[in-house]
Amino acid sequence: MTEPAKSGRGVNFAAAATGRCPICGKGKLFKSFLKVAGQCSNCGTDFKAADTGDGPVVFVILIAGFATCFGMLYAFLNYNWPGWVHLVVWPLVACALSLGLMQPLKGLMVASQLKNRVRDR
Ligand SMILES: [Zn+2]
Repeated sequence: MTEPAKSGRGVNFAAAATGRCPICGKGKLFKSFLKVAGQCSNCGTDFKAADTGDGPVVFVILIAGFATCFGMLYAFLNYNWPGWVHLVVWPLVACALSLGLMQPLKGLMVASQLKNRVRDR
């Protein structure tokens, strides 16, 4: 029988989505754009145990891919844009959405790992 997940300590998902420590809400979660800091500069929470790997990328692909494809299809059916406009606009939209979603989703996944006490074994 597996041990039930303990969620005793509070985890602030809004702080994690904005790049701050999910435990104290003050320290920095990232040391660069996508590099998670080793520990919180304010409360010392160890972030190394909450390695997300490629997890956030899956959600970025699904969300940005759906939004881009929906927008492209909608524009194609409702506006008479020339083909080259579609070829310029939608790759830029996909890149902007991917870059914009990457850090918040990675922060949310680190917070989720901390809340569920995930450890490498
Ligand atoms: Zn902290």
